[in-house]
Amino acid sequence: MAVALLGTGVSRGIAIGPARLLQRGRPEIPRYRLAAHRIEAEIERFRSAVGAAASELRAILDDLPAGTSGDIAAFVETHLLMLRDATLSAAPGDLIRRERCNAEWALEMQQDALVKVFDAVEDDYLRTRRDDVAHVVTRIQQILLDDTARRQALATHQERDRIILADDLAPSELVLLHKQGVGAVVAEHGGPVSHAAILARSLGIPAVFGIHHALQFIEEGEMLVVDGAAGSVLAGLEDPELRLYRTRRREERRRRVALRRLRDRPAITRDGFTIELFANIEMPGDLDAVRKAGAGGVGLYRTEFLYMNRASLPDEEEQYATYLDAVSRLEGAPLTIRTLDLGADKQAADGQVLSASDSPLGMRAIRLCLSERDLFLPQLRAILRASAHGPVSLLIPMLTSIDEVLQVRMLLDECRRQLRRQRLPFDSGLPLGGMIEVPAAALCAEEFARELDFLSIGTNDLIQYTLAADRMDEAVNHLYDPLHPAVLKLLRLVLDAAARTDTPVSMCGEMAGDPALTRLLLGLGLTRFSMPPTAVPEVKRVVTGSHLRQLQEATAACIESSQGFRALALRFNEGEWG
Ligand code: PEP
Ligand code: MG
Repeated sequence: MAVALLGTGVSRGIAIGPARLLQRGRPEIPRYRLAAHRIEAEIERFRSAVGAAASELRAILDDLPAGTSGDIAAFVETHLLMLRDATLSAAPGDLIRRERCNAEWALEMQQDALVKVFDAVEDDYLRTRRDDVAHVVTRIQQILLDDTARRQALATHQERDRIILADDLAPSELVLLHKQGVGAVVAEHGGPVSHAAILARSLGIPAVFGIHHALQFIEEGEMLVVDGAAGSVLAGLEDPELRLYRTRRREERRRRVALRRLRDRPAITRDGFTIELFANIEMPGDLDAVRKAGAGGVGLYRTEFLYMNRASLPDEEEQYATYLDAVSRLEGAPLTIRTLDLGADKQAADGQVLSASDSPLGMRAIRLCLSERDLFLPQLRAILRASAHGPVSLLIPMLTSIDEVLQVRMLLDECRRQLRRQRLPFDSGLPLGGMIEVPAAALCAEEFARELDFLSIGTNDLIQYTLAADRMDEAVNHLYDPLHPAVLKLLRLVLDAAARTDTPVSMCGEMAGDPALTRLLLGLGLTRFSMPPTAVPEVKRVVTGSHLRQLQEATAACIESSQGFRALALRFNEGEWG
């Protein structure tokens, strides 16, 4: 009998293959008290399990294929850092001594205490960190228990083309599964912003998450079809349906190969307009992917990732070296460096920047930088110094008032004076741009355009602030609508303001990388896009098949109709812009 399970498609692609069930569950934890003379040996047993867990993680890091996204190494490094932290590496040893309990039990007690701390904070980002703690603890538990079944499954090379079904997948496990050539992954838990989902997308593994109790419905070895775009897992299919999916899989592979050919072709519309396609990066390690995707440069470098997963803040020299490396690897292509956007879901490790608020409405991004000069000035100086070596632009996140731009200009002048005194070179014409990602800035876009050299629209935040729908809160995901007339109206307003003032404008939110929205955005007047490198070929394909003037005329007609911006969304839903 055919079974269809539906979840959230978090990484596109079709896979067909036999099911492989990986159920971690919680290993059965033995609990016993120790005789006094066995305590030191037990502590030693615990320490060597922690050492073995660290070796496993280091082996994963060493085995990462060249060109793997920097995010992946960062996940594994986070787990390594957790292993080194005293709360995991030393506290269980103290518990063994104090409670005279066995190592597995001590570790469980320590984990429960840590989970309570994370649970008390209602923050999606920290909740993800709680999951990371669970993954690290389970790794040590499995070594202590010598629970080899799952670890063997992950270590053997028997998984080619298999569909992995797991209760929950750690990012480090996904790296191993990728190396073994799995066909797809399905997990009972996790959503589109979980670390594993981000990783599946960047590794190109079709993935469906959030199918609760999936393991109860599927049997080991059963033939499955996973559709990562539809978020479906189908079992028990026979011909002709199975044949249909095989054909779709073949077509998809062919399309991917064809897309690779677009790499070196410019993105020119059918009526001859050049559209600029740039990439978003989080780490300089992502620059290989930028080149492979055929992007024209970096439209958004999220520098806050440089401040995460580490014990101390990066100083000016480290930042300068990092930005300089990016400039030279781009070989003359533009690099847009965004200043620190910490706060909300993005926090520095161990709360080093203590005043960065968890709230998306709080002390974050440029607000934080303007209130902490010691944090901001080294970054401005480092960016200025990097600008001496290539086409660098500076981008300010989360602007709400012109006053913030004026303050940044004053601080930049101060940095320039210092650098001149020190005889350190910089580009005196470094372009200064601002993110338009708060409705206040969108509504005053013309004033911002007059004060800035370029604008970049951050739709991820613009949508959440316009619709009052927290982008991290799964419960209000259905309200987070890029096609809401209010969002479209604000986009048009910003694009018109930029055109009137002759100010370059790009878009770097996720909307820019969604090929389904490319024509709509072209119609609204957007000609510069910045997106994850993996999205560039598909968006380029849509651009080269589009007629810009026709799209712009159709868009104008919709907006001028009685239904205004709603008409645009309606036409989109009817497939007119698909
Ligand atoms: C945005 O808000 O659209 C954006 C690009 O910034 P981030 O996703 O880093 O908040
Ligand atoms: Mg943003």
